[in-house]
Amino acid sequence: MCHPAARMAAAAQLRTDAVARGRALKRVNAIAAVLCGFVPAVLLAVISPPSAQMWLLGFLAGLVWANFFEYGYHRYLLHLPGTFFALRHLVHHS
Ligand SMILES: [Zn+2]
Repeated sequence: MCHPAARMAAAAQLRTDAVARGRALKRVNAIAAVLCGFVPAVLLAVISPPSAQMWLLGFLAGLVWANFFEYGYHRYLLHLPGTFFALRHLVHHS
């Protein structure tokens, strides 16, 4: 049996490691989002410069699309019972 102070130190280390892992995942997700959204948008804007109105429309459409994609991905893929994604994701909710 461990000493309570040792258990608390181990729990604090686990929490620190989990936060570091979470931040690393968020960094990778941010890079993926930039590569999948921002870079193509800049390339399209260079190829065919949009008007301010079309730029705003595209931006709003992108926001709506991204939110529904995130909702659908989370709701239907990450919570699909028995899948690899669901098993890993349920740890996030525990
Ligand atoms: Zn969830």
